[in-house]
This record gives sequence, structure tokens and C-alpha cells, in this order.
Amino acid sequence: MKRIEIGRFAGFCSGVERTIRMTMEALNKDKNRVYSLGQIIHNPQMVRRLEELGLNVVSDINEIKEGIFIVRSHGLPDNYIRELKKRGLKIIDATCPFVKKVQEKARVLKKQGYELIIVGDSQHPEIKGVLSAVSEKATVISTKDEAELVSGKRVGVVFQTTFPLSWAQDIVAGLLDGCQELKVYNTLCFETLNRQKEAIEMARVVDVMIVVGGKNSANTTNLANITASCGCPTYHIEEARELQSEWFDGVCSVGLTAGASTQSLLIDEVVSNLKQILGDAEVHIFGVDLQK
Ligand code: SF4
Repeated sequence: MKRIEIGRFAGFCSGVERTIRMTMEALNKDKNRVYSLGQIIHNPQMVRRLEELGLNVVSDINEIKEGIFIVRSHGLPDNYIRELKKRGLKIIDATCPFVKKVQEKARVLKKQGYELIIVGDSQHPEIKGVLSAVSEKATVISTKDEAELVSGKRVGVVFQTTFPLSWAQDIVAGLLDGCQELKVYNTLCFETLNRQKEAIEMARVVDVMIVVGGKNSANTTNLANITASCGCPTYHIEEARELQSEWFDGVCSVGLTAGASTQSLLIDEVVSNLKQILGDAEVHIFGVDLQK
């Protein structure tokens, strides 16, 4: 019998749930005057749903004149928030507490006089927010090669919350060479770590991995990269209809995980399409001896 294994940690994390709840509460108060700058979470389907309920997603803060502004889960540079407050907008800060922790630890390191290294994707909104928290006085790196070029007497490090653990370990090893004193704050989000660890365990025992979530979602893309790097054929999809039957030729077991902003409805749709493609298949929760 073919098997579909669903990750226990697949789907919404607490930070995303909190952002959606805060957005819904704001929409209940002031249906047509709630704004976000860019996608409030990296899940295009969920963002579309919130837009149907009244959320205005804008690409430029100059499009916002009044009402309620929601700071997305990845945070926002301080100057944007100051400007919106000046215009009289009510600010609801839905920045995930784990992201806040990165900002806070970055400030602490700067205050203590460390040269700050932020490990992550310089183009990601979370990192732009962290840079703004330290007035852009930091260097962003994302590879061991870049880490090996860093030299300094007192160097402090924080990580993007969703950065893969093993890559973070490599980067710290790379930094050791050129830094006399190295202070590292582990700002990786433990929900992401659990998901990544589980994805690796699954990728080692299944024939194919399906990773569900926004293509613009850092944590989902990292999951797909991690499982692919374990040697397991991996497909990153946003919706169930993207599944292709030829991916499963000769396959007996499929692992399914999902990014932190992927709702369970989407996961259920993927499972349902997978069952159709595979024919008779048992659905299990990974690591739990029960059928779903
Ligand atoms: S993945 Fe972690 S850091 Fe990102 S929103 Fe969820 S809980 Fe917060």
C-alpha cells in the first residue's frame, strides 16, 4: 500500500496565526480602511482571502492616507512606522515576537559595541526591518564564503528567524577564523527548526517530498532546498492543482510538509489530489503510528 506522510509541524505557525487574527480583528472594526504594505504573510491565497474581506494591500505607503495600518509578521523599517504615525494612522504591530527578538538582540549587540553581522537574505523584509533597527549599521551575509571574509576584534551575530540551522552552523564556523571575540545570539525560530528537522527526517525515508507554500516564502523555500539537499526529489508547489502525475511514477511513499504560512485547507487539498494520483494510499501523520 502506498503511503502519504504528513508532517506534524506542517502549516501555520503561531506568528502567522497571530498576524491573521490581528488583521481579522482590525477588519471587524473598520472594514474598508485597513492597510498593509506588501503581503502581510507570504501566502498569496490567504492574502487574497483577506483582501476579499476588505484588507488593502499597497506597494507604497503614500497610497495610505487614513485608517488602520497592520505591520506584517516580518516587521517593517522604523522610518515607515514613524511616517504613518505622523499621518495619524492607527498602527497595529503584528510583527512576530521571534522577529522582534532578532531586532532587540541586534540593538543590544550594537549598544555593547560589537560589529554586527546579520545572517540572512538582505532583500527579505525581515532583514530590512532588522537593519533599520540598528540604523543600517550592520553587514548582512548569507554564506560561509562571506563569513570567512569577516575580520574584527568584537563581532556580534544574529540570524534571520527562518535561516536553515546547518547553514547557520557553517557560517559561525566560517566566522571563527577572522574574529577575536564572537558573540552569537541564536535567533532562529524554534517552530521553523522543528519543521526543518522533521522535513529532513521525512526526506530520508520517503521517495518524493512535496513542499507546499508561497514561492516568495523564505521558510517554505528553505524547506524545499533542505529536503532536496538530502537527495530526495522535491517539488515546491503553492496549490494542489500544480501536482503532476509523472512526479509519482514508481513512487511508494510521499512526504508532505508546508511552510509556516500555509493553511490546513491547502494541505488537505494537496492530500486529496495526491490520493487521486496515487490510487489507493494510506495517509499518516509522520512519526505517529496513526492513520489520518
Ligand atoms: S516562522 Fe517563526 S518567525 Fe516566522 S512568523 Fe512563524 S513563528 Fe514567527
